[in-house]
Amino acid sequence: MKKPETLLDALRNHVDTQGDKSAFTFLKSDEESISVSYRDLDARAQQIAHHLLTVAKPGDRALMMYQAGIDFIEAFLGCLYAGIVAVPAYPPKKNRNAERILTIAQDCTPRLLLCSAETRRNVEAEIAGSVANAPVIVTDQLESVSGGSLPELQADQLAFLQYTSGSTAVPKGVMVTHGNIVANELLIQKYFQFAAHSVMVSWLPMFHDMGLIGGILGPLFVGAPSILMAPNTFLRDPIKWLQTVSDYKATVTGAPNFAYELCAKRITPEQKSKLDLSTLHVAFNGSEPVRAETLERFSQEFAECGFRPNAFFPCYGMAETTLLVSGGPPLAETKVITVDLSQLEQHRIVETEEGRPLVSCGQIGADLEVRIVNPETLAECSDNEVGEIWAHGDSVAKGYWQREEASLSSFQAKLPGDERNWLRTGDYGFLRDGTLYVTGRLKDLIIIRGRNIYPQDIEELVEQHFDAILPNCCAAFSIESGGEEKLLVVAAGSREMVRWSNSPHGPNGELVKLNHKIDALRSDILNEFEVALTDLVFVRPTTFPTTSSGKVQRQLTKRKFESGEFEVLFESEVRTPETV
Ligand code: ATP
Ligand code: MG
Repeated sequence: MKKPETLLDALRNHVDTQGDKSAFTFLKSDEESISVSYRDLDARAQQIAHHLLTVAKPGDRALMMYQAGIDFIEAFLGCLYAGIVAVPAYPPKKNRNAERILTIAQDCTPRLLLCSAETRRNVEAEIAGSVANAPVIVTDQLESVSGGSLPELQADQLAFLQYTSGSTAVPKGVMVTHGNIVANELLIQKYFQFAAHSVMVSWLPMFHDMGLIGGILGPLFVGAPSILMAPNTFLRDPIKWLQTVSDYKATVTGAPNFAYELCAKRITPEQKSKLDLSTLHVAFNGSEPVRAETLERFSQEFAECGFRPNAFFPCYGMAETTLLVSGGPPLAETKVITVDLSQLEQHRIVETEEGRPLVSCGQIGADLEVRIVNPETLAECSDNEVGEIWAHGDSVAKGYWQREEASLSSFQAKLPGDERNWLRTGDYGFLRDGTLYVTGRLKDLIIIRGRNIYPQDIEELVEQHFDAILPNCCAAFSIESGGEEKLLVVAAGSREMVRWSNSPHGPNGELVKLNHKIDALRSDILNEFEVALTDLVFVRPTTFPTTSSGKVQRQLTKRKFESGEFEVLFESEVRTPETV
């Protein structure tokens, strides 16, 4: 087979060679699932494309608001066929996320609002009135139209806008071309060892890079079936994910670190006894810091289910690089090194016996080059120095939609004596033995008295002290007070705390216990990081800021804290930032 120019070429190849095979199966509930063959998927996508072209033209944007499901995939491919720029979003829910979607709508100025019969009412009620000149089109209810021809697609043509998660700032629309998709999918094919017998299982959000490029388009590109479910199916009952892997004999699956942690903690011996995870070749772990402890715990917990620890596939990537930057090689033992924490705080890597474990995020993808650069001097770092990760290659997207300045500074960075454009990832990391280690985000780094502290290290410690804090439910940051930076942690309070806060007498005994726990945490933080924890604040869980993909928003948490926007359920000692 010759190399496909676009994803749609790959799809048409599958129609020719294995048209009746199931491309996607979506598990709606325990009883109900829907499958679509390559032939039907292609026909539906082309039909949608013809329809869209009766109301819009190539290059127009189509904002997509669907529940997880096959409708979304059909409409996404329909946009690609029509040359219309797909903008994956999610359905608005009353009083919940309409504002976030409207921000995206304002940014991408859609010509079309796409949805399904299921989401139509909410889209009409929450979004349609605020977006001018954009009809609502219900793509699963379209009558068939007799089509003219569909446009020819070029590799450097825009395929879709991938909005970033919004962990550090307002989500930005990354301009992903057809060529970018093919470049990154070729990489993924190699990484995930996709072959005729491969099977993917994914519950990842379909509107984010990892769910879309990894869970949906990756398998579609190679012609491997993908078994899909909604994120909520997993979040409500984590066993659904692993049971599906087991039932479908999946070879590839993946999720952020927190999901593995959740499984290791929540899945019961009884549930485990019914699982066979021995078919997994690749269990990718990315989009958030990968914790050595999680890999170990999961491997131990699921060894009895035949899970092979070397199936773990820590990887690193982002919307700006279509998806993957590094990972693998497949079925290799995950590399974990232990580094001296005080050296790490000075951006230096010194391996020691005891210290901070760091998990390698694997080899740099073949179509990519990576450099480690000092973000201030813009000079390349030496081998044992931590710096900003810069990337160059065919998977790197065109820039941010309608943001010239940000595109220029992030996508067109230059290295001395090198004419090429480099992407500044905004992440710290280093290279060792040809593999990439990611240490954290530039914007979130906590700098106290010249020490660089990664917030996720503090958060991990907090989680260890408080079982009730779920993963991704606490944020560490510093605030300036009296000319000094002070360390703070805001966490989502537990259900119990919410109950106490409603009870008139308060939970005196519990409060004493909590204060003891905080004291223990304080001394651990002091021992390990030599900084004092000024305050730990538990807030009403519904107000704790996370992205639509469930990532922590530290900057936003800090802003909300400083402006007193949180409803505090419990706080250690200090009351307001002014008195810190
Ligand atoms: P925004 O750019 O809007 O702030 P975001 O960066 O979270 O949001 P994504 O593109 O979805 O949006 O996520 C990519 C980021 O996720 C990376 O830049 C990096 O910070 C983090 N990330 C991804 N993989 C890893 C990993 N293996 N280890 C640590 N961090 C990772
Ligand atoms: Mg980002």
